[in-house]
Amino acid sequence: MTITTDSLAAIGDLSVAFAPPNAARMSDDELLAAQSALAQIGRRVSAAAATVAGEIAHRSRPDLGEQGLARRRGARTPEILVQQISGGSADDARSLVRVGRLIDTTDADTAPDPSRESAADEAPWLKPVAEAVAAGRLSIAQADAIRGGLGTVDEHSPAGLGETLARAALELLRDCGSHTVEKLASRARFLRAELDAAAAADGERRLRERRYLHLIPQRDGMTRITGLLDPESAALVGSAIDAATSPRRGGPRFVDPDEGNRAEELARDPRSIEQIALDSMVELIRIGGQADASKVLGARRPAVRILVTARDLAEGTGFGTIEGQADPVSLDTVRRTICSAGAVPIMFDRNGQGVDLGRTVRLHTARQRLIIAARDGGCIFPGCDRPPSWCEVHHPETWHRGGGTSIENGVLLCRHHHLLIHNDGWEVIHRDGEYQVVPPASIDPARKPLPAPSKSPTLRRLLHQTGVAG
Ligand SMILES: [Zn+2]
Ligand SMILES: [Zn+2]
Repeated sequence: MTITTDSLAAIGDLSVAFAPPNAARMSDDELLAAQSALAQIGRRVSAAAATVAGEIAHRSRPDLGEQGLARRRGARTPEILVQQISGGSADDARSLVRVGRLIDTTDADTAPDPSRESAADEAPWLKPVAEAVAAGRLSIAQADAIRGGLGTVDEHSPAGLGETLARAALELLRDCGSHTVEKLASRARFLRAELDAAAAADGERRLRERRYLHLIPQRDGMTRITGLLDPESAALVGSAIDAATSPRRGGPRFVDPDEGNRAEELARDPRSIEQIALDSMVELIRIGGQADASKVLGARRPAVRILVTARDLAEGTGFGTIEGQADPVSLDTVRRTICSAGAVPIMFDRNGQGVDLGRTVRLHTARQRLIIAARDGGCIFPGCDRPPSWCEVHHPETWHRGGGTSIENGVLLCRHHHLLIHNDGWEVIHRDGEYQVVPPASIDPARKPLPAPSKSPTLRRLLHQTGVAG
């Protein structure tokens, strides 16, 4: 059956009476059967809507300029036009257009048309995904999750990636029924990362770029928080909030009497878990604001653990994972974590049985950190004003390149600048008794080092008094 404009008009005719089923009268089985039948109808209708949205996008393609369909109807983009017509969210409209562009609407009689180079030609591995949508077997959200997770191929991608992505797409299609859309998306990202470690770094960066936090004052005096956390930030914030609320979440029973008492206290707490979560976040921020700037936060034990195989780390290939999270993290992130928090080797036998813990890779001692903090006075990145309490200790010479834990081989960097150093090709060097920051070639082709002098007024005064500096 092909949907025609006439049949659509008949189905959508608002002058014909339509009432939702009387769900209250249905048996359990009928109710579930109805839900499943409606989902099936919904997938077919969405497939049709996506196809139409894809065609709207085609007729609004950029090279048509003002003559494009969307522009002629006063919408800046086809997505906005689709959203205006459908009344859905901007995200839904974007998904609809993206998936619609994958669906091949040409038939055997249509003359080949070069302007119809669709998204399907750029990503041929998504062809079976588009077919599953068109056949009503896959929802738009599922298809978009697979598309986004598997990513794109460009000239930097390893050879033959297209074929392996095709196998990955088929695998995802096979077990999409047993996954939520979120699971499907992270499974797709994971498969992609396994195929192409550069994509893991890239995917991580793309996710991180989308992070934000908004405080929106409401009319009634409350303020709504909305935002997006990248996986690593989510692991940090999540573990802090979990720690404050976990005994309530039906966790293990506590043998330790202290923990048992704490669990009981929490159970008596009249606040909801959500209220406790918010209170603890506010409390953390309050404590953070009052933190003694002379204490280095980086000395604390890390709240998140990252797992990586020794081979990936040694060979610089592959990726790591944050314990308890499905998404891969790049080796840059793994190295940054090791840089500031150290690493514990865990030995496994051939059967995958964990057998032993190695010694923690040596870190600067608390005394050394105090000295480094006094010397640097805060993040040494030029122009940054974060105090020592916000900083992590970065090792300019990494331990696996033979860098030791001397005071000389440790500088303070705030988390943002530590990220920049490890993930974006910046470098800290120690030359002629001075620390310098070297930008990556993408920012300064000459890679001219920038001075990164101490931020400590006391150190400057000391050097002045002893006549070392003018
Ligand atoms: Zn570092
Ligand atoms: Zn900084």
